[in-house]
Amino acid sequence: MPAIEVSGLRKTYRRAFGRAGNDALRGVDLTVPEGSAFGLIGPNGAGKTTFIKAILGIVQPTAGTVRVLGGSPEDPRIRARIGYLPERLHLPGAWTATAFLNTVARLKGLRPEEAAHLRLLERVGLASAAGRRIGGYSKGMRQRLGLAAALLGSPSLLVLDEPTDGIDPMGRVEVRSILQEEVRRGTTLFLNSHLLAETERVCDRVAILADGRVLREGRLEELSRGGARWAVRFAPG
Ligand code: ATP
Repeated sequence: MPAIEVSGLRKTYRRAFGRAGNDALRGVDLTVPEGSAFGLIGPNGAGKTTFIKAILGIVQPTAGTVRVLGGSPEDPRIRARIGYLPERLHLPGAWTATAFLNTVARLKGLRPEEAAHLRLLERVGLASAAGRRIGGYSKGMRQRLGLAAALLGSPSLLVLDEPTDGIDPMGRVEVRSILQEEVRRGTTLFLNSHLLAETERVCDRVAILADGRVLREGRLEELSRGGARWAVRFAPG
């Protein structure tokens, strides 16, 4: 059973709040095998965030079907098996990492377990900063804390929107190595990026999205043989 199965997915945003109407997704078919590390790449505005929101049930598709972990993303039992790291993280600066994880655990309907949370913070390299205020964290540390929150409850599928965007090179290396470790543990990874080089370091399968359509999809080595690398202009990695 694939981790994500999307067919004929369309999303048209209506005109609202001064924004023009927009065909963000124009008929996307995509299958993400279980256990894979899958990267959706494409330039800004290609529809990547909309795709992620559709597979999480946050936006309602205009047309098409979405199946995640064999069910509907609107089913709370399915949602409970997905970890999500959004593009923009809003973290409470006055809180400690431990207090933050306790609250997220409660919101997810999990029992707040100090020992398990500490192990999670260790896994993302934040054990020594666990009692410090989040406001003093670097961007990379904040992103790793976001990852720890996404990993609460040991999800089968981890969905990440631009996980290394805007963080320093050292922070990128740290986030990447956490993601690689997750894949080794058997978690399916689905991430968005506008950086091809970044995706190449973590993912084994890639789809190229441009203007709401998938241009190419496949194993990384197949795509680079086909010259798809040059099909779209990306920001340098
Ligand atoms: P970025 O990397 O810049 O976030 P993206 O590939 O993730 O880009 P989306 O954020 O999915 O792309 O946006 C796809 C298109 O849909 C863009 O033209 C965007 O302006 C538009 N769009 C996104 N959200 C809305 C909305 N709520 N209402 C109207 N248009 C929207």
